[in-house]
Amino acid sequence: MKNPYRKTKIIFTIGPATQDEATLERLIHAGVDICRINMAHADHAWSREIIRRVRKVCDRVGRQIAIMMDVKGPEIRTGDVPETFELEQGETFDFTYGEGIGGIGEDGVRRVDVNYPELANDIKVGDTVLVDSGLIRLKVLSLEGQRVRTEVIIPGPIGNRRHINLPGVRVNLPALTQKDRGDVDVGIEEGIEFFALSFVREPADLDLFHNYLAEQNSPAKVIAKIEDQQAITNLEGIIKASDGLMVARGDLGIECPFEDLPLIQSRAINTCIQNTTPVIVATHMLESMIDSPIPTRAEVTDIANAIREQADCVMLSGETTVGKYPVECVETINRIADRMEMEDCTAPRGDLALKSPKSKMLRSAAYLATEIDDAGIVVFTRRGLLTQKLSSLRAGVPIYAFTDNQELFRQLLLMRGVEPFFMEFDDNDPERTIQNAFEALKNRGWADKGAKMVVVTNVIAGKKIVDTIQFREVE
Ligand code: PEP
Repeated sequence: MKNPYRKTKIIFTIGPATQDEATLERLIHAGVDICRINMAHADHAWSREIIRRVRKVCDRVGRQIAIMMDVKGPEIRTGDVPETFELEQGETFDFTYGEGIGGIGEDGVRRVDVNYPELANDIKVGDTVLVDSGLIRLKVLSLEGQRVRTEVIIPGPIGNRRHINLPGVRVNLPALTQKDRGDVDVGIEEGIEFFALSFVREPADLDLFHNYLAEQNSPAKVIAKIEDQQAITNLEGIIKASDGLMVARGDLGIECPFEDLPLIQSRAINTCIQNTTPVIVATHMLESMIDSPIPTRAEVTDIANAIREQADCVMLSGETTVGKYPVECVETINRIADRMEMEDCTAPRGDLALKSPKSKMLRSAAYLATEIDDAGIVVFTRRGLLTQKLSSLRAGVPIYAFTDNQELFRQLLLMRGVEPFFMEFDDNDPERTIQNAFEALKNRGWADKGAKMVVVTNVIAGKKIVDTIQFREVE
């Protein structure tokens, strides 16, 4: 009996609803590929404990998943207020800096502090300030020193430390804050596979992050979360500078007109595929399943659409941090993916930037595999680049990627259509390595004797090492 094969990868965010070992075990059995830790809601001790717990449960279950730490990046928040108060429509309201707990200013105008001293420099009269995920809307009336005076357009309650969005405003906050660096150090020490950086605005933000990781000798990959208009303007450069992209639709839908979201999502997915960069579609995918055991029809269609658009991964957030039905959410995605992937076009994509002869060879391997009924592709990879390109071709065939690099083994879980295997290579005998890979496929229920495989590998020809594509049958 062959293993069930799903091309689309599933990321879940861990939280109170899923952090116990029994639920983690059920999620891993159900097929999650990556566990996300959201540092907006996590401290260091909890994060360390969770990382170790996930590894332990994986070892027990016999299936590995990867871990992604999502760091907050630049974020503006309101300060504390004595108690939550309601804004009124048309009210004049001030955002201040360094004046302490919110209340009523000298001129009788109510106010709250923000955690960013440069707000009044970055913003202009007429700009919009959104508080609490866009629930409250204010318009800037005037600027004086570090005070931003606004008019309340859509009122709501102001509580402690509410998230602020400034659509279209270029904020001069650093890409990686002091808190982020402390969080990242924990992830590095625990050997996690991915970091996701929130509010990436330009390629330089990613260079900074990569340099930080390189200084600490970390092989972790960096996922760029695109969440505002500046990121959309710089999309292609961000994709080229990152190891993966997350379409963070929560903040994007606040920072950009929401009717643009479907177009932004399609463009981000296509540009990623063309640049052979993995792409994640995130947020509100099964929001109603926080409280309900079945999805809405609109959610089914949203997930189906991300799969049809050929995203690498779909991501669950509140559904698995606080939701009542985390395992059912994963089963729901499994059902939708199974059905949608049946409809996949099998021809490899022709719009990828494959420049070197070796990359072009991968396209031939993908064509060959799709021409042969029930064939798979076997690839041996040390840096993951060949696998990433094969995955991006989006051919309708399984890609069995073998690596002798433990970190890369789990990082391959991000890529659509790729089933990773960890295995030592025999550098002096490539044929031995192929036979070992076939054994692993049979032993783990991925292929039976006689299964057809297109193998992308090296052979030793005299003193040379030659790249080859071979058509083989599993023996
Ligand atoms: C988002 O905004 O969609 C997102 C994934 O980011 P976060 O959950 O960190 O707000």
